[in-house]
Amino acid sequence: MEQILVSACLLGQPVRFDGTGKRSHDALFELWRSEGRLIPFCPEVRGGLPVPRQPAEICGGFGEDVLDGRAKVLTRDGDDVTRHFVVGAWQALEQARASGARIAILKEGSPSCGSLLIHDGTFNGRKVPGEGVTTALLERHGIAVFGEDALEAAAERLAELECP
Ligand code: SF4
Repeated sequence: MEQILVSACLLGQPVRFDGTGKRSHDALFELWRSEGRLIPFCPEVRGGLPVPRQPAEICGGFGEDVLDGRAKVLTRDGDDVTRHFVVGAWQALEQARASGARIAILKEGSPSCGSLLIHDGTFNGRKVPGEGVTTALLERHGIAVFGEDALEAAAERLAELECP
């Protein structure tokens, strides 16, 4: 059975920067949970950041730029947390590979997990089209990433993988 790497906060784990979770109650999510497919993972915590923590944004680029050293991840206070985000992304890839997951469902808008939108690096609440650091690394290695609002698309991909 195909496994799915999932942002731990979407399963209600209180790992977000403000110490909360963001549980999804979508029926597909509940189905996959009952089937035992979901592998919870928080790249920022696994990258060594605490809970709670300062909010952080990618400054000067997108997830792929962080991976290639062209952009940084900074907290609102200006601390450079790039290393934690990159380590967390590699840990996520390792977890996906270890469990054979070829699909990930990650929290939209996050500098780690965003797949369509991320904050623009100004800490003004604005979002721009782009990927977070973990999403960029997973996709670079052939793992399809979907946001929590794209579960139907994830289900289609899952069906293709299970019935090629
Ligand atoms: Fe959720 Fe990803 Fe942020 Fe962790 S890094 S709290 S899993 S969105």
